[in-house]
Amino acid sequence: MEINAINDCVKNYLSHGDGGIKGYGGWTISTGSATVAGRGVVATRDYSVGDVIFVDVPLIVSPRAMGMDGTGSWPVCAVCYAVMMTPTGCPGGCRLPVCGRQCADRPEHRDECRYVRQLRPKTKSDGQTWSVGIYNAITAVRGLSIRDGKYRYFLDVLQKKSTDKLTFEVEELKRNISMELDKEDEQIMVTTCKIMDANCFETIVNRSNKLTSLKGLYPVAAFMNHCCVPNTMHNFNEKLQMIAKASLPIYKGQEITTSYTYSIWPTSLRQNHLLTSKQFICTCSRCCDTEEFGTKLAALNCIVKNCDGRILPINPLDKKSIWQCKMCTKLVSSTEMICFYKDVETLMKSISVFCPKSFEAILKSFNIHKDSPFVIDLRLKFIWKSKNNSLNLEQLLYKEKLCMEMLDLVQKLRLGQCRLLGLISLELLKVIKEKAYRFRRNWNTKTLNVFEGQISKLKEIYTSVLDEDANLDNNNIQ
Ligand SMILES: [Zn+2]
Ligand SMILES: [Zn+2]
Ligand SMILES: [Zn+2]
Ligand SMILES: [Zn+2]
Repeated sequence: MEINAINDCVKNYLSHGDGGIKGYGGWTISTGSATVAGRGVVATRDYSVGDVIFVDVPLIVSPRAMGMDGTGSWPVCAVCYAVMMTPTGCPGGCRLPVCGRQCADRPEHRDECRYVRQLRPKTKSDGQTWSVGIYNAITAVRGLSIRDGKYRYFLDVLQKKSTDKLTFEVEELKRNISMELDKEDEQIMVTTCKIMDANCFETIVNRSNKLTSLKGLYPVAAFMNHCCVPNTMHNFNEKLQMIAKASLPIYKGQEITTSYTYSIWPTSLRQNHLLTSKQFICTCSRCCDTEEFGTKLAALNCIVKNCDGRILPINPLDKKSIWQCKMCTKLVSSTEMICFYKDVETLMKSISVFCPKSFEAILKSFNIHKDSPFVIDLRLKFIWKSKNNSLNLEQLLYKEKLCMEMLDLVQKLRLGQCRLLGLISLELLKVIKEKAYRFRRNWNTKTLNVFEGQISKLKEIYTSVLDEDANLDNNNIQ
């Protein structure tokens, strides 16, 4: 389909999707030279940091698949996505986990419930009223509603993952029903899953103050290309719509980008993720810069005695690149580095209790620098998981230091007003509030005012970055 027609489809969808959707005037889907790969979204006006670029309506949202034996995580209600600690099957008989009559009767579930029921889901002898296999097939089944709806054209327009492998979701469905699938239905299901694999976003929803990670297909966002220094960030509202905002200033004619991977991972990890999940190699400015804007994220400290240098790959885009210390020019092979990395990883995983002094001692004795990916991982875990009121003073002050270091890293990586900036600002604010509470009697008004100032500044940042989900306890979200 030609690009003008695609733009018409997308804008038609957004303007009719859910009534009153705004913010789709300043960009266009383009095949021009401005995009990094094939098609992309390009700005047709300037955007300032924080400006909403578009509000995207999901074509499909579905829960993440579970392990075959149903262990590992709790399923969520297939309709409202609330976590189900004691899952029960849909009263309508489709064998999806559904939390009650109210959800079973919702209009958005009616067609899929009837469809799955007609396929005669198999019952197992264990008396369980819901089926993991049917649950894992939801994405595939929901593709049929796109085919039968007004926006069928997206099945042709959106990019599909190219693979010869059997489609997991469809195979799960076939294994768990007694009837045979209609051939055309099956084809649509396979196409839907391939589109989902190539384009889906992690959709985070808040249900009764619990965060759940779902998969969502967003037609505009699907056209955004990846960059490791993306100029947008996004949140989700109650209706699971994606609100995409400028995280950096964007100028007319510039490509609008997002990140398909974690921005605080070093180049090797990002590349690996992009290659295995999205099948491409990123060559953005950050990927081509060995030192990743001076952060030396991938580096390990030099192994030569008394050398303060750091070892980095000579060519960051080549997995087998030789590593070198700039200071003493020592060369290290990639195989040696992989072993080295594994050792550090094992060591870091062995740390369970976060005690500032012993943590710093470990870093020092094993010569690991504070921005190495493993250390960042641990720092973030400590920041998300620790409860401020149960920390001793040393730990609380350490947490404050870690938050500031993370904010500094986000800035160095040029990530602008990204989601991580919002989340860390919120955590830092909570730490400062706890500190102010503990010391309120010892401080004079002037000191307290300084803290008030810090608090209101952080509040301004996190509310503008995170929109309405700022009240959450953010566990495990990066
Ligand atoms: Zn429900
Ligand atoms: Zn049902
Ligand atoms: Zn990159
Ligand atoms: Zn050296």
